[in-house]
Amino acid sequence: MSSIADKIQSVTRRIQNATEAAGRPAGSVHLLAVSKTRPASDIREAVGAGQYAFGENYLQEALDKMADLTDLRQIEWHFIGPIQSNKTRAVAENFDWVHSVDRLKIARRLSEQRPGAQPPLNVCLQVNVDQEASKAGCGLSELHDLAQAVAGLPGLRLRGLMTIPDPAQSPEALQQRFRQLADALAGLRSELPDQPLDTLSMGMSSDLEQAIAAGATWVRIGTALFGARPAKP
Ligand SMILES: *Cc1c(COP(=O)(O)O)cnc(C)c1O
Repeated sequence: MSSIADKIQSVTRRIQNATEAAGRPAGSVHLLAVSKTRPASDIREAVGAGQYAFGENYLQEALDKMADLTDLRQIEWHFIGPIQSNKTRAVAENFDWVHSVDRLKIARRLSEQRPGAQPPLNVCLQVNVDQEASKAGCGLSELHDLAQAVAGLPGLRLRGLMTIPDPAQSPEALQQRFRQLADALAGLRSELPDQPLDTLSMGMSSDLEQAIAAGATWVRIGTALFGARPAKP
C-alpha cells in the first residue's frame, strides 16, 4: 500500500496532466481532499504532506475531527454534504466553504448564522445536471432565481457551482454534464458581475479528467487519496 503522501502526489500529477491537456494555466485546479469516514490521523498525515483543504459530508463527524486537529490552523474546511436546517448554525460557524447549497432557506440561515467576526462564508450552489428528481441539487431552470437571491445575502460570498453527475454514464456524457455546469456559471457571471463566481466544484476520483477538461477549479477526491471507504457511519 502506498502512503497518503504518495497518493497525494499521484493525484496531483493526474490534475497537472489534465490541466495541461486542457490548455489551462498550471495551478488553476485545486485539490479538495474528501476525508469523510476517515480518521483525524489521516487528515494529519495529509497535512504533513502539504494538503490543507478538506471536504466533509457529515457534520458531527467533521466537528469531532476538528476538535482533534485544532493545532493545525492552516486547514481549510469545506462542507460538501446535504444540509438540514437544524445543522446550518454549526456549518456557518465551523466551515470556510459550503459546496452543497441547493435551496434559499438553507442559504438564508447560513448567512444569518455566519458569525460577524468571520469573513463571509464561501458558497457554491449545487446543481443537478441530470435532472433526476431523486438527487440533491437545484435544477438548471431554478438556478437563475436561486443565484440572484443568494447574491443578496450579506453573510455569503457566491463563489460558483457544484455538481455530482450520475457516475453511470460514459466519459463523454460526463464531460458534457460538466460543460453544462460551466456554461451555467458563465451565464451567471454576466448577470451577477459583482459576485466572485470563480469556482466550478466538479470531478471526483473516477472523473477528474473529464471535469478538468470542462473547466473544474476544485476537484473533490476521496477514494484516490484515502482508499475505498467503509460503509457510511
Ligand atoms: C464522497 C464524495 C466525493 C469523493 O468521491 P470519491 O469518488 O471517493 O473521490 C466527492 N464529492 C462529494 C460530494 C462526495 O460526497
